[in-house]
Amino acid sequence: MAACHPPQTDMEGSQDETTMDRPPALSAADFSALQRQAALFWPCPGHDPADTAADLPWDPAQARARLQRFAGLLHVMFPALAATQGQLTSPLVPVPELQAAWPAALDSHALPAGHWYLKRDDALPVAGSVKARGGFHEVLARVERLGLAAGRDAQAWPSATDLRRRFAHHALAVGSTGNLGLAIGLIGRGFGFDVTVHMSTDAKAWKKDRLRQHGIRVVEHDGDYAAAVAAGRAAALHDPRQHFVDDERSPELFLGYAAAAAELRAQLQAAGRPVDARHPLFVYLPCGVGGAPGGVTYGLKRLLGPHVHCFFTEPVAAPAMLLQLAVGTAQPVSVHDIGLDNRTAADGLAVAQASTLVAPIMARLLAGVFTVTDAQLFAGQQALEQAEGIYIEPSAAAALAGPGRLLGSTAGRAYIARHGLATCLPAATHVMWSTGGALVPEHVRAEERARLAS
Ligand SMILES: *Cc1c(COP(=O)(O)O)cnc(C)c1O
Repeated sequence: MAACHPPQTDMEGSQDETTMDRPPALSAADFSALQRQAALFWPCPGHDPADTAADLPWDPAQARARLQRFAGLLHVMFPALAATQGQLTSPLVPVPELQAAWPAALDSHALPAGHWYLKRDDALPVAGSVKARGGFHEVLARVERLGLAAGRDAQAWPSATDLRRRFAHHALAVGSTGNLGLAIGLIGRGFGFDVTVHMSTDAKAWKKDRLRQHGIRVVEHDGDYAAAVAAGRAAALHDPRQHFVDDERSPELFLGYAAAAAELRAQLQAAGRPVDARHPLFVYLPCGVGGAPGGVTYGLKRLLGPHVHCFFTEPVAAPAMLLQLAVGTAQPVSVHDIGLDNRTAADGLAVAQASTLVAPIMARLLAGVFTVTDAQLFAGQQALEQAEGIYIEPSAAAALAGPGRLLGSTAGRAYIARHGLATCLPAATHVMWSTGGALVPEHVRAEERARLAS
């Protein structure tokens, strides 16, 4: 079982406020690009596509079974899930117009080979982002553990009002840059929980407003997202009634995200897209702390095996997972350690330090990471809306650069060659994971469009 285990660097003594020695897993040119905030495509050096993490204990099928078991409850509690009988799903849509327009849109020299799809978690009900998957699973696990909804079949659920009265005695808390707070807030309130969301002061105003409108307590913290999480975690420690949803450490979130893999497999089958040696699948996932894209990657590798190749995409100002994998996962590292400021329009990805739960798993399963500038993700966002009429938020648009980068960059082409994939490219499937957008208010979309036009 080969893995992406770069030699460890001795962080002690090799680091001051803003500089760090180049990790051996990064070439001098790549390290320089990282520090200059130039876009980079970085294949995970020791990655072995055949490693499917079959030895790890967490089973995404259990998360799927839990979501299934509670479909009846979700149907009762969430009007937005009534049409799907309590199932949480998002469409997989082909994006041929984007594919045709892409080289022109981003001045890429890549041939738009293969079959391009968008996985529309931006349209997930209730939360409008990928966080709905992890969020619903985490909250359901809590409901189950509290014994609040034990032993009921789908027909036997009491009314939503009765259930909410029961849950109102229990509290949830979460730290978030925005979308996880929205997801846990809206899902938690849907159940009737008392919910507190800890946010950094620079989180988007409309997200705080939306939360407050729904009766969710918003506590603002100076500093970035990690500070908000730490403050929330500390506050919850003193209150046994409170369950803290820990974005940096929660296996329940991770497994909820992983449950998406079976859904994607079924959708690819229905679309007539096989995944095998002749038909590789490339998946591009926007990464913040790593939980959502990590969970999806874990689920996909276990389910679809060696022929799925997962790549993360991060803002040039916040390449937390790339840096962590390059340094080695023995000790946490922050993008601030290499002089980056974590400032990006992709607020869902503005994370300085990767999840210590997820990074070691990604060290085995992840094919690579590429970084995008804010200008590139705005260009992608605009190209998608113009070509396909689909609005997604800037963070989600980071995924759109995937096929162009893999097929068009020197490092991407080297990955293709190294794994003998060149001849399969016309038969390959590319899935860009669109992670958020549905809840973004019209006035914010209009501001983004105006900025692009000027
Ligand atoms: C949270 C988020 C991500 C990344 O998820 P992580 O678990 O933080 O890696 C990507 N896109 C959007 C829109 C998000 O809100």
